[in-house]
Amino acid sequence: MTETSLILYETPAPRIARIVLNRPGKRNAQDTALLYALNEAFDRAARDDEVTVIVLAANGPHFSAGHDLSETDHLAHLRAHRQVGTWSGFAGIGAEATTAREREIYLGFSERWRNIPKPTIAQVQGKCIAGGLMLIWPCDLIVASEDALFQDNTLLMGIPGVEFFAHPWELGARPAKEWLFTADWLTAADAHRRGMVNRVVPNERLEAEVLSLAQRIAERSPYALKLAKEAINAAQDAQGRVSAMHLAFVSHQLAHSHCVQVHGLPIDPAGISPAVRRP
Ligand code: ZN
Repeated sequence: MTETSLILYETPAPRIARIVLNRPGKRNAQDTALLYALNEAFDRAARDDEVTVIVLAANGPHFSAGHDLSETDHLAHLRAHRQVGTWSGFAGIGAEATTAREREIYLGFSERWRNIPKPTIAQVQGKCIAGGLMLIWPCDLIVASEDALFQDNTLLMGIPGVEFFAHPWELGARPAKEWLFTADWLTAADAHRRGMVNRVVPNERLEAEVLSLAQRIAERSPYALKLAKEAINAAQDAQGRVSAMHLAFVSHQLAHSHCVQVHGLPIDPAGISPAVRRP
């Protein structure tokens, strides 16, 4: 096992890599450094031919509180890393740099992880809020503990959903609208019923059940798994997923710019109460 302060990289069984969010004191809130470390871990697992299945897990009682809203000077943090995508303008003025940043570390990273040509399984306990969804939705399978709760609370902050706008594909159009409009919690049972979650298991069995599932899948041909994943992803893409998500991303940026003009901040501060952000 090797580790950084923010991400652990484990090999709990042959052919299995387990990447663990390791910022439990902050409820695995995602700052720039955590996201780049997570991307490096995904790259490592993706490029290792000894790894067939990748598990994404999280330490602590909650999977992720979403973006770390306490991080300031986002662009300086971003420039401290070597960018992964080919977008440019990170030193631009107006909306250019802020949009470039979100394209790189939110939409870009999540899309990149979604297309890793190996099965990925998200292992989710406790709360998974907003930006947390952008870590689990790119995974092929999601296994949740009975206490798992999911929320996209961005609408409370004047933003029409997280940057990786997979809501209609994850929940279906009408449930996705209700969930976004109300910013209500989605329970593990409801997420399972709607197809967003594959399995719900007792909390104390979560890690073992995910590892068992990963080991079963890892017995299959890695090449056949790769092709099967690509075929199903292509079916979603043939429905216009990429174009629809791009439009949603642009709308998201428009909402940020609107909030800057109206509130002087990229989000409506009325939505950032501790009760909302860290329930
Ligand atoms: Zn944003």
